[in-house]
Amino acid sequence: MNKPRETARLLVRNGYLITMDDDETIFEHGAIAIGDDGRILAVGDDADIAARYQAGQTIDAHGAPIHPGFVECHLHASYHLFRGVLPDQLVESDSFDTFEGHFYNTVTDEDEYLSVLLACLEMIRNGTTCFMEAGTVLTPEMAARAASEVGIRAVIGDAFIWDQPQGFAQGKTDGAGCATCAAQARLHTELKRAPKTREEALATLGAQLKRNADPDALVTGHVAVLGLGTASEELMMEAKDCADAASVTLNIHQSYSPADTEADRKRFGRDPLLHLDAIGFLDRNVTFAHANHLTDAECEVLLERGASLAWAPAASMMWGHGSSMHGRHGELWRRGGNVALGSDSPNWSNDFDLWRQSNLAVLAARDTHMDRTYLVAEDGIAMATRAGARAVGLEKQIGSLEAGKRADIVIHTLDRPEMVPSTNMIRNLFYASRSKSVHTVIVNGRVILEEGRFVGIDERAIYAEVRKASRSLLNRMGHRVEANAVPRAARRP
Ligand SMILES: [Zn+2]
Repeated sequence: MNKPRETARLLVRNGYLITMDDDETIFEHGAIAIGDDGRILAVGDDADIAARYQAGQTIDAHGAPIHPGFVECHLHASYHLFRGVLPDQLVESDSFDTFEGHFYNTVTDEDEYLSVLLACLEMIRNGTTCFMEAGTVLTPEMAARAASEVGIRAVIGDAFIWDQPQGFAQGKTDGAGCATCAAQARLHTELKRAPKTREEALATLGAQLKRNADPDALVTGHVAVLGLGTASEELMMEAKDCADAASVTLNIHQSYSPADTEADRKRFGRDPLLHLDAIGFLDRNVTFAHANHLTDAECEVLLERGASLAWAPAASMMWGHGSSMHGRHGELWRRGGNVALGSDSPNWSNDFDLWRQSNLAVLAARDTHMDRTYLVAEDGIAMATRAGARAVGLEKQIGSLEAGKRADIVIHTLDRPEMVPSTNMIRNLFYASRSKSVHTVIVNGRVILEEGRFVGIDERAIYAEVRKASRSLLNRMGHRVEANAVPRAARRP
């Protein structure tokens, strides 16, 4: 007599299962059983799982790839209402007063909510099931609300943890005679709703950690510090203590452009990461966003301490900061460093598509080292999954498809031209299709996107609201959207 089958809430069957477990096991005809609590009960060969479990709902992947949801490790979620507004010929030092000064003093809670809502829909559609926000949503509650409504996992921080906002401008240019420095310093200190002093920053630091009291919470808290010269050493260490006490990640922008890297080198009197190590800041629970400009000595100490990087290759390429030429990310990855990925913001990468970042990361590293074999597709997928989970402090819960982990799962479709023919599933997925074939997305065992359609979310109604809110925000900011910002004559002087 057959053994009675165990009960699962959901079965995902008949897929090319890329588990990203420690051995990077692949089940070519695989299945996943998911329990009532949103955790994975078992993964394995389809025939074995089907024989062992019965479920109320079954999703047939029709042979398509299935992988752990991608983990976005550096993202500003509240700028989506002015995506694409900054012209290609704008220099970066002029860009910050547009959004820092005017945007942050104009944006409302409702604008931030809609922006994060849009960002979440975009991430789900692109196969991202978890994001860590960089601590720049003025009302973090709006980020939490939007993420919860969409059903995406989110790790959010307090807004603008800084105590020397004028430090930002100093790191944006080479200094002497800079016409915009003074203006920028003023704008940053005039962000009405951001802290001005260490006391004000400390008053909000750690407020989002309250979310971690519920072990099943989809939206949790971490400690975000803006960085780039805006935090004193005292504040940085207070933030580190706060993150340590709560066992969460501390994330901070670091060594983004040559200018802010130099400014940090000047204020610390040596390579920034060497100084941060000397004062006890550099640690396994620290995630540095960007880190495009590191010295040999900084790479060594980074590897030794086990800190993570959130590499945003498109953001560097968009603004010409040289991560593909000077970045050490690929090399650090090969040496065992934890290099995760980020999309930054809607005027830096412009899309929240970690598949794009993953692909760019692998190709950029090959180009830098002039070596096709330097990184392979599997490295890119590992950066977006396992490394990401560690960089946001959730490696025990997500980042791979294994029994006991949360069921954050992306199922692709083979019914796209880029997925035909199926000669090598991973290479077809990574080089040809990427996010285009994302078909069904599950977060914490719940189906959010089913065969290309959001479940219980009126996507078009949200887009209409976002368009309206964006027009209103840009009007209030006095921003004129130009039909053609860069005429041909200006492009070819
Ligand atoms: Zn950033």
